[in-house]
Amino acid sequence: MKNPSGERITLHLDMDSFYSAVEVREQPELKGLPVVVGSDPKGGMGRGVVSTCSYEARELGIHSGMPISKAYRLCPDAVYLRVNLKLYKEVSESIMGTIRIFADRFQQVSVDEAYIDVGDSINDYHSAILLARKIKNEVFRLHGLTCSIGVAPNKVIAKIASDHNKPDGLTVVKPEDIQEFLSPMHISKIPGIGTKTQPLLHEMGIETIGQLASSDVQLLISRFGKSGVVMHQLANGIDMREVKEREEVKSVSTEDTFDEDISDPLQIDRYIHELTEKVHESITRKHFRFRTVTLKVRFEDFRTYTRAKTLHTATTDKETIRKTAMGLMEEFLGKGRFRLLGVGVSKLEKLDKGQTYLTDYLQQ
Ligand SMILES: [Mg+2]
Repeated sequence: MKNPSGERITLHLDMDSFYSAVEVREQPELKGLPVVVGSDPKGGMGRGVVSTCSYEARELGIHSGMPISKAYRLCPDAVYLRVNLKLYKEVSESIMGTIRIFADRFQQVSVDEAYIDVGDSINDYHSAILLARKIKNEVFRLHGLTCSIGVAPNKVIAKIASDHNKPDGLTVVKPEDIQEFLSPMHISKIPGIGTKTQPLLHEMGIETIGQLASSDVQLLISRFGKSGVVMHQLANGIDMREVKEREEVKSVSTEDTFDEDISDPLQIDRYIHELTEKVHESITRKHFRFRTVTLKVRFEDFRTYTRAKTLHTATTDKETIRKTAMGLMEEFLGKGRFRLLGVGVSKLEKLDKGQTYLTDYLQQ
C-alpha cells in the first residue's frame, strides 16, 4: 500500500567509519586508538585530506574531508594510514553480498552504503525492525564490523535516519513521525544541501528542515530553479525515488595531489597526459573499452569539481581520454590554482580480445 510520503518501507545501511574500521579489524592492536585514514601527513606538511577516521579521532576534532595537515596539528600522535581502496573494496563486496540476500531490491550507492527495499512480504514496521536487527547482527557476525541502519517510508528519510544515531545505530521513522523527526534538524542533514546551498538558505532565514518545509515553494524555485522543488519535497519527507538495482558500477580512475599547487597550462597538460597514461594502461590490462571520460579538479581552497563527457561510441583510444579530459579542463583554466587533478573512464565494456583492433579501427 502506498503512503503519501513515498512508496514502501525502505532501509538505508551505512557502515560505521568504514575505512578506519576495516583497518582496525585487520590490525586489532589499533583498537581504541585515534586512527586517521587519508593521505600522507608528511609531518604536518602533507597536502591531501582525511578520508575517514575512527570515532576516537573524531573526539579529538578530526573529521573526513579535513586537510590532513590540520588533523596532524590537532593530533600528531594519531595513527595515520594511507587509503587502501583495494582492501576496502574487497571487504565491501563481501559485506554487500551478505546484505543483498535480505533485500527484495538492493541498491549499493557507495563502497559502504546501500538501500534495501524489503519488498511486499514485509509491510509493517515491526517486521522491518526485526529484519534490520538481523542484518546488523549478520554483518557483525560475518564481517566483524558495525553498521547503522535507518528504517523509513522512503529513501531520503531512511538515509537521514541511518546517520541519526551512529555508530551501531538503528533508527526507525514511521510515517506518522516524519514531521517530528525532520523539523528540528539543520538543513545540512538533507543529502545534496551542501556548503554552497546552505548559506543561500540561511540568507532566506531558513535554518531547519521544518522552516524549509513550510517555506514558499515559488520563492525556492525563483532562487534555485528545479532544485527548489526537490529540496522543498525532501524537507516535507516526500521522495518518490525507488530502490533500483543497478548494473555493476565499473570505472577506472587515477588522481594526484601535487606537492605544490599548479596553474600553468603546460604543466596541467603534462599532468593530464600522465594521468591518461595510467588510466589507459589500466583499461588495456583489463581489456575494457570506455564511453565516458571524467575529470576531477580540486582548487587550492579545496573546492572540488568533477565533470564527465560521454562519447557516442565506446573506444579504447588513449588520445580520446586525453583530449576529452583537456576539453573538460577548459572551464577551470585561469580560475585559480589546482592542488589535485584526476582523470577517469567509466561506462566500461569488456572487450573480446580478438576483436580489439578491428572494432577500434572502425570507430576511428
Ligand atoms: Mg559510512
